[in-house]
Amino acid sequence: PPRNRLSPVHPTANHKTPRKNPPRNVHRWKHSKGADIMVIIMNSDATGQNIADVISVIESQGLSAKVMEGAQQKIVGVIGDKTRLAACAIDALPGVERSVAISKSYKLVSREFHPQSSVIDVAGIPVGGEEFVVMAGPCAVESREQLLEAAEIAKRGGAQFLRGGAYKPRTSPYSFQGLEEEGLKYLAEAREKTGLRVVSEVTEVEAVPTVAAYADLLQIGARNMQNFRLLKEVGRTQKPVLLKRGLAATLDEWLNAAEYILNEGNPNVIFCERGIRSYETYTRNTLDLSAVAAVKHLSHLPIIVDPSHGTGKWRLVKPMSLAAVAAGADGIILEMHPNPAKALSDGPQSLTPVNYEDLMKDVRKLARFMKIEGIISTDLS
Ligand code: PEP
Ligand code: MN
Repeated sequence: PPRNRLSPVHPTANHKTPRKNPPRNVHRWKHSKGADIMVIIMNSDATGQNIADVISVIESQGLSAKVMEGAQQKIVGVIGDKTRLAACAIDALPGVERSVAISKSYKLVSREFHPQSSVIDVAGIPVGGEEFVVMAGPCAVESREQLLEAAEIAKRGGAQFLRGGAYKPRTSPYSFQGLEEEGLKYLAEAREKTGLRVVSEVTEVEAVPTVAAYADLLQIGARNMQNFRLLKEVGRTQKPVLLKRGLAATLDEWLNAAEYILNEGNPNVIFCERGIRSYETYTRNTLDLSAVAAVKHLSHLPIIVDPSHGTGKWRLVKPMSLAAVAAGADGIILEMHPNPAKALSDGPQSLTPVNYEDLMKDVRKLARFMKIEGIISTDLS
């Protein structure tokens, strides 16, 4: 059985899960926020009274303070939940230079308070466990025929998930914008026919119930990584979420974006590294594979890699998929099209069926080799 240590999976729960009854474990996590550390750096000319005033504000919130003597300045350490100081404007007190949060602003996502790796159950498929997962399919659902054909190819190659955007966040308003609910119906039909699980992007708050009704995994695209209302909305469902990294997001911003989802009561988040903007123009993005190892270290949540958007070039997709396996990713998401030359979006980075099968053979070989040799450790803390 899938090992989801965060919470039981609620396949029937939907976005209307009552807010008043969040999953039991949420409260337990919130208590773990108490292990925060914050230091308040005093001015070099701060008086004893200034320091005493700072301490009394800290203690008034039920926290304790510890004064440390620096060479030039005194530093006041705060022990306890620093969020309680949020309304105290510590930085505005006389004699205060600035306050610095030492521990991370994300908690529920952090490995610090949850040392064991989480396995997310996506409609019966464990992500983040022993098995490497592959999601494959076209960038966009274009027609019933195109999608069903792609699904058959994805299945034959050994993927566990079918991808396909029904709501498309396109750079140009004149580009194909997606079939929306019609596209979701084709995805559901493809799931019926092949048994593949379905991942599809949700681009706006209003579309969450619709996408959640059809897809097994809700994709939050790079352009929406900091759409906080959207993050909260998917956080109110119990559907697993695939959270892509923003175009120019730091790891800290990305992990905090996931925190929004967990904080609403949905523990089922999977990260997806999809490349970031750099000065390089040959590739569409710069695929940051070091993020895989870093996120594994910082968080207990699984992470997969998207080498299609990460490079923008189909020739680079196979080598970067192999690199993702080697880096310790829990899976990959690939763009594959029955006929990339005719694709309505992202054709240049889409694999042909033949290239997809070739990639799958080698990815499977490498993943198996690493497993047999014990190279993949599910716990990289
Ligand atoms: C996509 O998966 O087709 C997509 C739009 O990805 P991203 O949000 O990473 O650009
Ligand atoms: Mn795409």
